[in-house]
Amino acid sequence: MTQQPDNLGTNLLKSVFGFSSFRPYQEEIIKAICRGQDVFAVMPTGGGKSLCYQFPAVVLEGVCVVISPLLSLMKDQVDSARETGLRAATINSTTSASEYGKALGAMRRNELDLLYISPERFNSPGFVEKLLDNKISFFAIDEAHCISEWGHQFRPDYLQLGRIAELFPDAPIAAFTATATDRVADDIRSRLGLRHPFEVRASFDRPNLDYTVLRKDDLNRQILDFLKTADGQPGIIYRGTRKKVEETALMLKKHGIEALPYHAGMTSEQRNLVQESFTYDRIQVVVATIAFGMGIDKPNVRFVIHADLPKNIEGYYQETGRAGRDGAPSRCLLLFGYQDVVLQNSFIEKYEDPQTREVTREQLKQMIRYAESDECRRKAILRYFGEEYPNDNCGHCDFCRGAIKRVDATVDAQKALSAMQRTGNRFGIGHLVDVLVGAKTERIRKFAHDALPTYGVGKEKPKKYWHFLFNALVCKGAARMRPDTDYPIPQTAELGFEILRGNESFELIDFVSAETKKRAPKKSRAAMRERGVDRGDPDLFDLLRTRRTELAAANHMPPYLIFSDNTLLEMSERKPMTREELLELSGVGEYKMKRYGQDFLDVIAEYIAESPGEEGLL
Ligand code: ADP
Ligand code: MG
Repeated sequence: MTQQPDNLGTNLLKSVFGFSSFRPYQEEIIKAICRGQDVFAVMPTGGGKSLCYQFPAVVLEGVCVVISPLLSLMKDQVDSARETGLRAATINSTTSASEYGKALGAMRRNELDLLYISPERFNSPGFVEKLLDNKISFFAIDEAHCISEWGHQFRPDYLQLGRIAELFPDAPIAAFTATATDRVADDIRSRLGLRHPFEVRASFDRPNLDYTVLRKDDLNRQILDFLKTADGQPGIIYRGTRKKVEETALMLKKHGIEALPYHAGMTSEQRNLVQESFTYDRIQVVVATIAFGMGIDKPNVRFVIHADLPKNIEGYYQETGRAGRDGAPSRCLLLFGYQDVVLQNSFIEKYEDPQTREVTREQLKQMIRYAESDECRRKAILRYFGEEYPNDNCGHCDFCRGAIKRVDATVDAQKALSAMQRTGNRFGIGHLVDVLVGAKTERIRKFAHDALPTYGVGKEKPKKYWHFLFNALVCKGAARMRPDTDYPIPQTAELGFEILRGNESFELIDFVSAETKKRAPKKSRAAMRERGVDRGDPDLFDLLRTRRTELAAANHMPPYLIFSDNTLLEMSERKPMTREELLELSGVGEYKMKRYGQDFLDVIAEYIAESPGEEGLL
């Protein structure tokens, strides 16, 4: 076929992929590939990079060879391509001899659109010769940053991909990544030998993600409260250490939530099992360290919670980016406590290399600045990536919802500092908090701290608050941890004395207001809106989801491969009655219509017949 996508354009997009419009830059990239130009595209997670090569793979003659770094990713991609009706195969270390033969045969007969391989496979002896026997339409290099040592996921096997341009001079190369600093970008261009590539750098904004920062004061309760509003939908909870991962997973299980832990201390079989259970919606929550990473292409992750402070904004944004790839509303919650800062600082001080110390310290500072900032979260994040967010109110973060206030905490700071002074700067935060709230402990009696004027002056506020405040005093330089003790003991610093004298004030961000209302989940429109879902009919949406789960189980595939959450939302909103109406929805292509259309039309028809609302009268 020599047709340009202009001629097929949105028709093919609709009939094959089921989408009614391109996402930003998809069309331009597809056109470049079709006219034979190399491509270098930096697009955010969920930006729709796969379509950029799957589409031309259908249009162009020959097979598109996709290089992808992980087995699990390849498997998901092939499953998803096949569920769209594309002719896709993978050759990797787990491929049986007969499947291998089948894939090569299909390729030779020109009956394959996409061949997914690992870089190791490309480098294996004799493989290139096999490829040379076929008509290759172009090469797509996914996760192209793996070629650079400066990237965070360097894979030496990617280096050999530099041979593609020499070995297959007629095949364009299209490189895709979601993370590329200038240095990594230079590596990608030069190491792949891209020839005057068509370059794209899409906005990193993810409009469907909602950002909130809460004061971390009662972690388990906060997580459970959040989950009540998640209505059983899948999500990830990131924690800082393996031990904390295990603890939180156990805590959730005790509360009847289907959750599993994931960290690098588990065997790879165990980890694969967790990932698969999550992909297939068999469990609701994965509690993980950042080891749970690149392989998660699951598009319907509805929330990401950071229960401990991430080390830097880049990592934080990548991790939150795993929510909402399908474009449906999803929430990102960061639980922020100054105790995490104190802890991380103590780790940083242990780094031998002064430069590493400097860099990680600076990264941590930026992370704190983000958590404490009183401006739009989206604006702050995008600025970090060198992008100016143009709108005044993004509508989808705690700041833009008006949930953040600055409060004057000078009096509380004075109480806390005075407790420190009066006890001689010799006690840990736990004891100081006990003094403030007027606790009756053995230690307090022993040191006669109940006779101090500061004893009990803070009893109107909970202990958690005072913990938070003490750590804030340390982080903001009003107090410092004594260098001469093994146990963390704060002492008043210069700024602290100024606060005590009334020469300086002390402010805190009050991120708690308005966000922690405890509410049982209700399947009302209001509840859906609270979850960030303000479209559609919640009851019908639940029925459609149930049908999807049944079909997925019967076909042994992840539910999202049948229809995305977004498509189900649209169904619940527009309630299509005929095949034609269903085909109009985003995400419904001809192949899926044929396979699953009737199942969902039945659910909708039954629902309408049974509900005497407006639609029932039609
Ligand atoms: P990336 O690789 O850039 O992270 P994916 O290729 O995995 O993103 O795509 C993310 C999701 O967006 C997938 O569920 C995909 O089906 C969907 N998608 C891609 N292009 C479009 C489009 N033009 N319209 C609607 N959804 C799209
Ligand atoms: Mg991708």
